[in-house]
Amino acid sequence: MIADSAIAAMLEREKARFEAANPKSRALGAEAARHWHRGVPFHWMLDWGTPFPLFAERAEGARLWDVDGHCYEDFCLGDTGSMFGHSPPPVARAIAEQASRGLTYMLATEDAPIVADELAKRFGLPFWQVTSTASEANRAVIRWCRGITGRDKILVFNGCYHGAVDDVFVDLRDGVPELRKSLVGQVYDVREHTRVIEFNDLAALEEALASGDVAAVLTEPALTNVGMVLPDPGYLEAMRELTSRHGTLLVFDETHTISSGYGGHSMTYGPKPDIFVVGKPVAGGVPCAVFGFSAEVAQRMEQLREEGEKGHSGIGTTLSANALALAAMRANLTEVMTPAAYDHMLPLADRLAATLERVIASHGLPWPVVHVGARAEFICADRAPRNGTEARASMQGALEHAIHLFFINRGVLIAPFHNMMLVSPATTDAQVARLAETLDECLGVLVP
Ligand code: PMP
Repeated sequence: MIADSAIAAMLEREKARFEAANPKSRALGAEAARHWHRGVPFHWMLDWGTPFPLFAERAEGARLWDVDGHCYEDFCLGDTGSMFGHSPPPVARAIAEQASRGLTYMLATEDAPIVADELAKRFGLPFWQVTSTASEANRAVIRWCRGITGRDKILVFNGCYHGAVDDVFVDLRDGVPELRKSLVGQVYDVREHTRVIEFNDLAALEEALASGDVAAVLTEPALTNVGMVLPDPGYLEAMRELTSRHGTLLVFDETHTISSGYGGHSMTYGPKPDIFVVGKPVAGGVPCAVFGFSAEVAQRMEQLREEGEKGHSGIGTTLSANALALAAMRANLTEVMTPAAYDHMLPLADRLAATLERVIASHGLPWPVVHVGARAEFICADRAPRNGTEARASMQGALEHAIHLFFINRGVLIAPFHNMMLVSPATTDAQVARLAETLDECLGVLVP
């Protein structure tokens, strides 16, 4: 329905507009390229589809400013790291206060019991550990699951993403498991120990678990990294029942779905996992993640540890649970990620989804808006995908690139990887209206 020529013309125009409007970013990009590999401190900064990297100046609440002075309505929010707003004042205060008292000592602080009580109450699991990133939490959890079950396989879903976790980079292509190409330098075949099936396929799940060798099912309760894929009604409950029946641990990685509601997706819609992971926004953007587990899992972990090497407590990284992270997490959990915050985010996200649906329909397009909690995504296809294969098939690289660049040039940021938007406690109706107007204008150009 949208002509390739219209997309190509929009891309050309928007590239030229970006180049003309961002001289400082261009100059900084040239300077940075002297010693940063590919011109940026981290490669994902190249993924925005701009002709050269955009350089940020500051951010506050749900707004961000670039070095050329443009202001953006930020619906990307650091791809969830800042989903409770940029520098929420309680977190900023806690960081400033802790910063003058030492940042990392490898000792617990007075914040520790308060944070643990809060995690246990909110997420319904009794025992917790802290890491510096969600990637690291997931790696630790996979080890524990394999260790305590004595099983070598994990099961993941096609299109999943759980961070820099080698074991999970297995995709289904035409029904055949394949290693993801970006897993460079991989020297053993992770498919030997990782099974991959489609999300929402109960028969495949039943078959994969029946062999009794799967230590853990690791998933987001709704997939959010291959576009958004929601669980069919009853699917997660069936997953809960099947994993329990087969002695497989159920791990929910709620690093993104913490946006579904207070207590994450599992405490809002159920069911409860054996192990719960959340990273990115949990300390307001300071590197930090946590994983929580049931009393039974804790007891089996302890048993395994006692059988292991004596003399040190386990494997991990030194900066985990440092004083700065704990202080930020305490402030964020108790003062920012509150029920009142969700009371603002969830209805506003409902309005965002409904508004975008109206805009899209007014241009005669069939695109659905997939939405749960404070997270929404418009899909440039006829229907919402039910699994990773359908989600990949619905992606339209050039079209989405053109839309993203059109948005950036008009002061709107959405997640660069697909068309995902987040509503924070600081996001306003006026910002949502601005997003909708921008999409309206964009589709007005693309659709004759
Ligand atoms: N789990 C999920 C569901 C994620 O989306 C991500 C990051 N996008 C991660 C884990 C990894 O988080 P980090 O990059 O902070 O380690």
